[in-house]
Amino acid sequence: MERFFMFIDGEWVGANDGGYLKVVNPATEDVFAEVPSGGPADVDHAVKAAYRAFREWSESSLDDRRSLLRKAADIVEKRAEDIARYLTMEQGKPIKQALNEVLNAAYALRYFGEEIFRVYGHVIPLPDKGHDSIVVWQPVGVVASITPWNYPVQLLSWKIGAALAAGCTIVAKPPSYTPISPIKFMECFAEAGAPRGVVNLVTGSGRDVGEALVLHPLVRKVTFTGSTEVGRRIMALASQGLKRLTLELGNQTPMIVFADADLDLAVKGAVRRSFRNMGQICNSINRIYVQKSIYTDFIEKFVEETKRLKIGDPFDPGTDLGPMSNKEVLNKVIEHVNDAVSKGAKVLCGGKRPEGELFLKGYWYEPTILIDVNHEMRVMKEETFGPVVGVMPFESIEQAIEWANQTEYGLVAYVYTKSLKLAHDVARRLEFGSVGVNNVDVTSVEAPYPAWKQSGLGHDLGRSGLMQYLEPKHIKIRY
Ligand code: NAP
Repeated sequence: MERFFMFIDGEWVGANDGGYLKVVNPATEDVFAEVPSGGPADVDHAVKAAYRAFREWSESSLDDRRSLLRKAADIVEKRAEDIARYLTMEQGKPIKQALNEVLNAAYALRYFGEEIFRVYGHVIPLPDKGHDSIVVWQPVGVVASITPWNYPVQLLSWKIGAALAAGCTIVAKPPSYTPISPIKFMECFAEAGAPRGVVNLVTGSGRDVGEALVLHPLVRKVTFTGSTEVGRRIMALASQGLKRLTLELGNQTPMIVFADADLDLAVKGAVRRSFRNMGQICNSINRIYVQKSIYTDFIEKFVEETKRLKIGDPFDPGTDLGPMSNKEVLNKVIEHVNDAVSKGAKVLCGGKRPEGELFLKGYWYEPTILIDVNHEMRVMKEETFGPVVGVMPFESIEQAIEWANQTEYGLVAYVYTKSLKLAHDVARRLEFGSVGVNNVDVTSVEAPYPAWKQSGLGHDLGRSGLMQYLEPKHIKIRY
């Protein structure tokens, strides 16, 4: 069994208490590796190292920061296949998609290395003579990053890229289900020559490592991506030290398909965003509202295209869908489908484990489409985080908007129509931080990924995502 280590103060180390966590391959249920099971003493060690490194890094030139991010990105690209292999093994994502995730992570590092050059301060004219008010942006301090298992490399790259570009140092806690690909990603920073303490990674449970990080007095900012439930807990803990917070949390994602939409395009979008990564994405579609006149046609095509998806060995380059990432999410999917069926939903495809030798072990589930659904069903109001979607006809624009908005979440929604006016009107009325119009790929590194309502606080990505690692300072000068 392979054994991996944490990265603290420029060294690869085990946990202070010598414990290890097992890592499971979700396609086979085999334990194939172990990582240190860190705790508060390891967190303290890492945060103090990051704190010591902060002064020098925060005063480093933008050129030095960009250069480190570029070098790390080069190494990530060179090792992308190796990192992707671990990602597929621990997360279950098909290998082509894993490779894509790793390359996207390298892209994000480069982006932040450039974008920091476009963060400008300003001078404010004052009414009183002989004074100037100058506003400059300074790095917030030591950052704690806590990330989930669905995109363990890419989401970490958003945090590390922005933090380092801003001049912050960082201690990252990767998810316990998928800690290896983040470790392999971190190796690229070590090799790129990151100064001691600038980047650190502590593996271990959310309770032990995550909470100790959030509570550590030398941590100035916590950036968290994960469930709304844990986000609430982190917010409560972080309030004790009035820490800066970015929370990117869960969603319950609607898609609205209007009668004038390009049906093939809408179906393609629905298949991609309902089932990619086995529906384990914060912006995966949970419910689709289709205008009544095209409902039957939409359903027919949607089922037909979904049945074409190839589920199987995630290392086979022709595979579209691998296993679910862990037993916990699989159980939730089964509960949600059972709940819907018990309340009258009809399963048009999926709704079960696939058949065959390959699927006897592992956390497998077929992509599932439900009709005859209503808003009392859990699939229509909770985040399933699995390959399950409910489809429902709607009569009027008002009804579609009202249904789409009736959720405590507000991360992403999708709209399909050929009418620019309708798209614009509906997009503005949807209470979500991002709206995809005639596309289902709203996360662009260059644009913000805002989290509205209970989907979070603040956001990652784009210039404004980078600004979350900086504090304004007002310097008032009397000449
Ligand atoms: P999770 O259970 O909230 O875990 C996320 C991270 O938090 C993991 O590293 C976890 O550690 C850690 N953690 C757990 N309890 C903690 C605590 N008490 N204090 C500090 N840290 C703690 O979420 P998940 O199941 O991994 O991920 C799925 C969720 O993430 C979904 O709701 C999804 O929508 C959301 N998500 C949101 C976005 C976005 O950008 N908005 C992107 C991706 C995913 P362990 O792994 O050790 O438990």
